[in-house]
Amino acid sequence: IKRDPRYAQLTEEHVKFFTDLLGEGSAVIDGVTKDATDDIEPFNGDWMRKYKGHTKLVLKPGSTEEVSKVLKYCNDHMLAVVPQGGNSGLVGGSVPVFDEIVINMSRMNEIRSFDEVSGTLVVDAGCILEVADNYLKEKGYIFPLDLGAKGSCHIGGNVATNAGGLRLLRYGSLHGNVLGIEAVLPDGTIVDDLSKLRKNNTGYDLKQLFIGGEGTIGIITGVSILCPQRSNAVNVAFLGLESFEKVQQAFREAKGQLSEILSAFELMDSYSQDLVHRVTKNKHPLEGEHPFYCLIETSGSNSEHDNEKLEKFLEYVMEKGIVADGVLAQDATQIKSLWGWREGIPECLGHWGGVYKYDLSIPISELYSLVEDTREKITKAGLIGDGDKDPVVGVVGYGHMGDSNLHLNVATRTFDKRVEKELEPFVYEWVSKRNGSISAEHGLGLAKKNYIGYSRSETMIKLMKQIKNLYDPNGIMNPYKYI
Ligand code: FAD
Repeated sequence: IKRDPRYAQLTEEHVKFFTDLLGEGSAVIDGVTKDATDDIEPFNGDWMRKYKGHTKLVLKPGSTEEVSKVLKYCNDHMLAVVPQGGNSGLVGGSVPVFDEIVINMSRMNEIRSFDEVSGTLVVDAGCILEVADNYLKEKGYIFPLDLGAKGSCHIGGNVATNAGGLRLLRYGSLHGNVLGIEAVLPDGTIVDDLSKLRKNNTGYDLKQLFIGGEGTIGIITGVSILCPQRSNAVNVAFLGLESFEKVQQAFREAKGQLSEILSAFELMDSYSQDLVHRVTKNKHPLEGEHPFYCLIETSGSNSEHDNEKLEKFLEYVMEKGIVADGVLAQDATQIKSLWGWREGIPECLGHWGGVYKYDLSIPISELYSLVEDTREKITKAGLIGDGDKDPVVGVVGYGHMGDSNLHLNVATRTFDKRVEKELEPFVYEWVSKRNGSISAEHGLGLAKKNYIGYSRSETMIKLMKQIKNLYDPNGIMNPYKYI
């Protein structure tokens, strides 16, 4: 890609406007003037160390009004911007491609209000997910979204990516849980749609465009969200299974027998567990090796009752030969350690160098075939092995089985064009043939910008472009990304 010459170059005069507006401590500047040499690199790179931008300016507005003034100025002066939350996104959407100004939301991090009867939480967009969830914990509530990056991701970023996470199976998607949004459009208009209503059928539901919009039509500054009551009983089982056929049977049984208390059903293959073990050296919870592992979590109101249900379920699936081996967590520490074998996968895979990540929705019966087909392809190409010259360390599959969402990850010693050539467009074609989605929950960002056509028709893409042009006619919002 080439830098779009329509965008202005940043000048000292621009920087002066912003620093006068936002005050001290609210800008990170490197390179615009000689004496400005802040450490700007963390804002230019992503979590996977795969994408790297060249911004010289990061702005940290402290209020919705400041966001509005910043955006209006950028729009009037044709300065391109990238909204940035916790920068934990996995598709390169939160970092600049060239010299776009980063608008980092970390200073807008207050909890605005909470209604203890309805469970409606209103927060600034820059509020960290874990901080909000800890606040809710004290009130007996839970945030309806949980994911491995909870300690750094922002709620605004979660909403902008329509993050799915570990408990979508139980609490549903943000498209349903988010009740209202406050956002700023590129021309500075503040969209105050911070409704707290559960039901509101008065015309188009425009907030939905910001949910999963990936910062391409405006900046989310506030979110109101419906939070469920926190379950006081949480139980976790970790299972070993001999085939993907059996994983599907176990999932059916779990839905039937655990029904209303089932809160997560996660899948991990033996390859992913092996790589986690090689990095952490922890002892695996189950003896012997099984091709597949599942983590089942239940959340309910009565620990004894839930435990009894889970024990009965486990007895049943083992007796029927669906599950080969399994353990039940005995306490909170063990729950955490079992979850570590699932939540630790993304971090451990990065240990060797680079990871090619694919986040896919696939009809459940064929979910794992993609991992097998990909492994075969990479093996045939002679790219996998333990030698230093073999770029691929492992082809692994894991993910949110309960939502038919597979994470196909190829861990490599370094990002390597030969590997990429084997994977793309192969993976996208494979998924498209089965009417799946090339992005189940991470979004498109920069990584998948060229592949949207595998999941969306020309008509749909045209409509998206029309919406983009309506909200952002100058195209300053997160350019070079998927739209
Ligand atoms: P960023 O990475 O900063 O930004 C993501 C996108 O949103 C960018 O396009 C950015 O421009 C835009 N954006 C950010 N804030 C705003 C705003 N206020 N207004 C408008 N646009 C904005 N994702 C899942 O869905 N499910 C998972 O289970 C999951 N697990 C993960 C585990 C790990 C270990 C890691 C590192 C990531 C995981 N992710 C997962 C991906 C990532 O955490 C989510 O996409 C998260 O929602 C991103 O939030 P963020 O604040 O870090 O956003």
